[in-house]
Amino acid sequence: MIHVILMGPQGSGKGTQSERVREQLYLAPVATGELFRSAIKSGTALGQEIKAIYDRGELVPDDLTIALVADRLDEIAREGREGGQVVGALYDGFPRTAAQAAALDDLLARRGEKIDAVVAIDVPREELIQRLSGRRLCSVCGKVYNVVSDPPARLNECDACGGTLIQRADDTPEAVSKRLDLYERETAPLVGRYAERGVLVHVNGDRPIAEVTDAIVAAIRERVMADSAPRR
Ligand code: AMP
Repeated sequence: MIHVILMGPQGSGKGTQSERVREQLYLAPVATGELFRSAIKSGTALGQEIKAIYDRGELVPDDLTIALVADRLDEIAREGREGGQVVGALYDGFPRTAAQAAALDDLLARRGEKIDAVVAIDVPREELIQRLSGRRLCSVCGKVYNVVSDPPARLNECDACGGTLIQRADDTPEAVSKRLDLYERETAPLVGRYAERGVLVHVNGDRPIAEVTDAIVAAIRERVMADSAPRR
């Protein structure tokens, strides 16, 4: 399996890009934010434990997060063995701390695998704040909108399924600025770690969605998939 990390602050379009890139390159998602949201929604013990942390925009403890990722990797490997088309994993929102990055290296080393590419999506902070405070998502199907740049046809109603649009609990102005500070402090330093290994690529995320996707896909192909990617 190949392993690709998408890095970027909240609002950089990481989630949107992750979905688009995965489809083109046959990668399975390892999206810790998504995994936590579904744990909270389904009311599991883990969900109850992390809900308050999540709502404050703080980081879930490393041991819980790492255990969740280890399970997810097992699941992806199992799906691969059962004949799925997946050629690897795309990490979105993980690793976020030095401890998580080290744990991921260990998890992969035990499988005889490694991180093949890390794509950093760069967007100016003012633009991030504007994007995050305008973000809404469908309470039914999860589709993401932006009241300024990508509004639904009808106010507060999902174009895809008619569900009501809501704001994420951690997209309030206080939680947003806390999350951006946290990113600068805990996660941005990881970019240097991957640059030293020669696996890092920077992509300008301050342009139309499709252009960013093309740049990311090209960067990943160039790094790792030139020969192995199934092509459409
Ligand atoms: P995201 O959807 O990636 O913005 O994540 C939403 C929230 O989930 C974060 O603000 C954290 O509370 C939690 N979370 C997601 N990924 C991680 C991670 N790798 N480490 C710790 N907490 C995380």
